[in-house]
Amino acid sequence: MLEARDLIDLLARRHGPQQWWPAESPFEVMVGAMLVQRTTWTNAARAIEHLRAQRLLEAAALRRVRPEALAELIRPAGFYRQKAPRLIALAEFVDRAGGMERLAVLDTEGLRSLLLDLPGIGEETADAILLYAFDRPVVVDDAYARRIIGRITGVRGDGQAVRAFASLLVEDADVVALNELHALIVAHAKDVCRAAPICQRCSLRHACRHAAPTDSFV
Ligand code: SF4
Repeated sequence: MLEARDLIDLLARRHGPQQWWPAESPFEVMVGAMLVQRTTWTNAARAIEHLRAQRLLEAAALRRVRPEALAELIRPAGFYRQKAPRLIALAEFVDRAGGMERLAVLDTEGLRSLLLDLPGIGEETADAILLYAFDRPVVVDDAYARRIIGRITGVRGDGQAVRAFASLLVEDADVVALNELHALIVAHAKDVCRAAPICQRCSLRHACRHAAPTDSFV
């Protein structure tokens, strides 16, 4: 029987501390969350360094850049013509709100709703922003989480396993632990819980329905 909180400990033992998100400010986290969509972190990080060099990792400055100029700066992140106006809209949103500090006083669901109204921000990006930019207790509902938690719990279906698991975990884990969890899930998905899982090398196999269908999970 595996308690929800034990998952973090098992993954941490296997993969070690992850210490995400590599950013110098909460606004930079938001920018990174959008830039990393449909690309690797390495590519997103190159685009972020271009923005840093131009002092554009401030909402007030970023909202005033021409979309064409911004697209060239973020070209390494891919889909740059699409991402540029979305980043400008994000910067406008933050600047108009009065900055990250003003947004930080909103409750989590209110903040999520505002984020989801912005172009290019879906549930997964909103989860990442809430967790890493605003320190909210959120389990990021992405493809890796659905894969790993779905396999461990044996619950199939779009996000159903993640939502059920999240409700157990959020009661039991602090933001720092949830922050680590997302990074650990990504590490585990790349290591052994791949599309074709390597269960014989996995430290969670004793509690995983996929590997041992008769075991149970709480
Ligand atoms: S035992 Fe297999 S399916 Fe389960 S978490 Fe590990 S790698 Fe994934």
